[in-house]
Amino acid sequence: MLVIEAGPDGRQEPGISIPGRKGSTLGSKYDWNLTTIAQPAANNRVFAQNRGKVLGGSSALNLMTWDRTTVAELDAWEKLGNQGWNWKSLYPAMLKCETFQPSPAYGDEGVGTTGPIRTVINRIFPRHQSTWYPTLNNLGLQTNNESLNGNNIGVSTQPSNVSPDYTRSYAPDYLKLTKKNLVVKVDTRVAKINFNGNTAVGVTLENGTKLTARKEVILSAGSFQTPGLLELSGIGNATLLKQLGIPVVKDLPSVGENFQDHIRIQASYQLKPEYPSFDALKNATRAAAELALYNADQRSLYDYTASGYAYFPWTTVSNDTATKLRSLVEADTTLTSAVDKVKKSYLSPPLSATVPQLEVIFSDGYTGLKGYPAATSPLFGIGTFALIGVVQHPLSKGNVHIASRNISEKPIINPNYLSHPYDLQAAAGLAKYLRKIASSKPMSDIWTEEYEPGNAVQTDEDWKKYALANTLSIYHPIGTAALLPEKDGGVVDPSLKVYGVKNLRVVDASVIPLLPSAHLQTLVYGIAEKAADMIIKQTRK
Ligand SMILES: Cc1cc2nc3c(=O)[nH]c(=O)nc-3n(C[C@H](O)[C@H](O)[C@H](O)COP(=O)(O)OP(=O)(O)OC[C@H]3O[C@@H](n4cnc5c(N)ncnc54)[C@H](O)[C@@H]3O)c2cc1C
Repeated sequence: MLVIEAGPDGRQEPGISIPGRKGSTLGSKYDWNLTTIAQPAANNRVFAQNRGKVLGGSSALNLMTWDRTTVAELDAWEKLGNQGWNWKSLYPAMLKCETFQPSPAYGDEGVGTTGPIRTVINRIFPRHQSTWYPTLNNLGLQTNNESLNGNNIGVSTQPSNVSPDYTRSYAPDYLKLTKKNLVVKVDTRVAKINFNGNTAVGVTLENGTKLTARKEVILSAGSFQTPGLLELSGIGNATLLKQLGIPVVKDLPSVGENFQDHIRIQASYQLKPEYPSFDALKNATRAAAELALYNADQRSLYDYTASGYAYFPWTTVSNDTATKLRSLVEADTTLTSAVDKVKKSYLSPPLSATVPQLEVIFSDGYTGLKGYPAATSPLFGIGTFALIGVVQHPLSKGNVHIASRNISEKPIINPNYLSHPYDLQAAAGLAKYLRKIASSKPMSDIWTEEYEPGNAVQTDEDWKKYALANTLSIYHPIGTAALLPEKDGGVVDPSLKVYGVKNLRVVDASVIPLLPSAHLQTLVYGIAEKAADMIIKQTRK
């Protein structure tokens, strides 16, 4: 087995391994630093689309949220025509990758016990987070202490993919399980897949070297670059390929289409001085002291990752909002694709009760677009916490395609963010609800000022403007090489093999046909485990 990775091996990089330095590698040499094209429905903004360019890919850059979608959402994959892809098969595959460190904050169901990825409930528990459960309980949401077991609705404390020694646990941990039959080539970029007729026979590297595959080629370049590699290799929309002068191996117009992403919106609050915040690390002296503790293997603020999560349906916000949004979506006669129909069904009973539409994360320290107060500002030094809201099933869909035959040119990414009216109303309504959460007892007792968006935002029109200017991606692009029947826009079949060619599979987030109500990594590991099973079975035949 040969693994080819364009980026370096980042296992010695503290910005990757130290949990509390999450986010510090964004924009660095470990990031592909992709962006969208200007998004007309979102004030023409260009959105960041960070992606890991390092061994482990985006699992080296991610924010270590470790959670899981619902039974109904994975069973929907099978109903879409993907035989064998359901909760029953994906749940054990997801559990297989993980070893959870038991904690009184989490029950027994929903966590793995034997896999290479280590997970913990973070030991840094900000004092003000003690308001998380009672506040959401007061707003009608039940406590759910086993939120990774297929029912994620409720208010929870969730794990992070962090080892008990407080280093990031991520894809390269799998290398510890491998034997001599694996070679890893880092800093090596694949430029295209080579075909003999319609059989994949190997790859050409960026420097022109050709490598032959004895059995098959597996493409795992992620939702932005897998479609590009397919197109560069002659698999994609024949019209586009011909325009770019690429010989067509298989006309597959769905390559790069069906792009979906979770959108997020955030609010942040200035804490009363008696509640120490993660923002303390903005102070260089304190940061050095905490880093010294971390390096001495002692409890440190640098251990921190978020652990407070809530998933809930629109009825938790209000019955009125739930009814209005359901009517808006049901009246939309353009939502006719197989995937859109499933998403539509999530807003109506019975699924509207079990498939959450919204997520809120309690995140200590500043997160937002306005920026933490500058060192010259009198506000520098304040402690804040953020509520990050995520819309689980946006209806806007976009695409990603290559711009030219040059592998070095960045892809054209067009998510069409906020282009569906549901998405804008959802983002605005969720932002407004974040204020309601923060203003409810006992959370209302821990802060003095709403730092962002602030008191100027009051009317529904204001919330809409706030959403237009502040909605971001939460880095969950999927669907661009979808696991679906070819007639419904599929690129891969239930064996993850690309339609119309031989010996070529895709195994990454691009195969996920529709967005789950969860962050993506547990699902991506589960897909990989299931793929490994299929490949081993096929090889041993
Ligand atoms: C900033 C950020 C935060 C996130 N936070 C979370 C979180 O907290 N929890 C969660 O569950 N999910 C999170 N995610 C999402 C999750 O990490 C991704 O969904 C997941 O890693 C996707 O896996 P993938 O295999 O599809 O792609 P990737 O992990 O992106 O891997 C693709 C790999 O292919 C390599 N590659 C690309 N092109 C080539 C080429 N031509 N030749 C050779 N190699 C190539 C890349 O360098 C990369 O290593 C986050 C993602 C990001 C970017």
